[in-house]
Amino acid sequence: KSGALKPAAPSSSSLPAYSHLSNRVALWQGDITKLEVDGIVNAANESLLGGGGVDGAIHRAAGPELVKECRTLNGCKTGDAKVTKGYKLPAKHVVHTVGPIYSRSNAGTSRSKLQSAYRRSLEAATEADIKTIAFPSISTGVYGYPIEEATNVSLEVTGEYLADKESSQLELVVFCVFGDADKHVYEQVIPKHFSPQ
Ligand code: ADP
Repeated sequence: KSGALKPAAPSSSSLPAYSHLSNRVALWQGDITKLEVDGIVNAANESLLGGGGVDGAIHRAAGPELVKECRTLNGCKTGDAKVTKGYKLPAKHVVHTVGPIYSRSNAGTSRSKLQSAYRRSLEAATEADIKTIAFPSISTGVYGYPIEEATNVSLEVTGEYLADKESSQLELVVFCVFGDADKHVYEQVIPKHFSPQ
């Protein structure tokens, strides 16, 4: 078992330089499938059998064992979360959650479902003994959720969860943004929720 066959997953010492928002929360731009954390969150759909966007990227990087395990889970309701192993990913686990398809005429319901997706992901991660977790920007791609509002939801729910004693084992929550525009939104919204260290 030499390291020779290991793909170029980053080692702990080469972990990306996160921009820390507080000692337990950080922002990072890039491909979530590269992160060597205990758990990455997948913005999945209710089937849990794979899809486009970040879901497709995670399944491609994890390999076919991931969908095999997902088939045993009988799907996942919008706003809920279920944990699998990470297989070929550098992350040990995948926390599959399903965010809402945004509805302008039903914005309140969309918001409470997005809050639930973040909260249930954090709870499921805690149950799986995950200490470091990375979130993509759930529902803001194909599901059409406006990025500013979604970012407020993600930071609000995470802040509340971390303030709760139940969260004591969670050491680090990384918000993984993919595009420059999303990164700028997070940078704008962060000061509303977290004071600089
Ligand atoms: P949803 O269906 O929940 O809207 P998407 O996958 O379409 O999910 O988009 C969610 C977010 O994930 C978007 O901000 C998109 O840019 C981002 N994203 C896509 N691929 C990746 C990736 N490999 N790593 C991190 N984020 C990604």
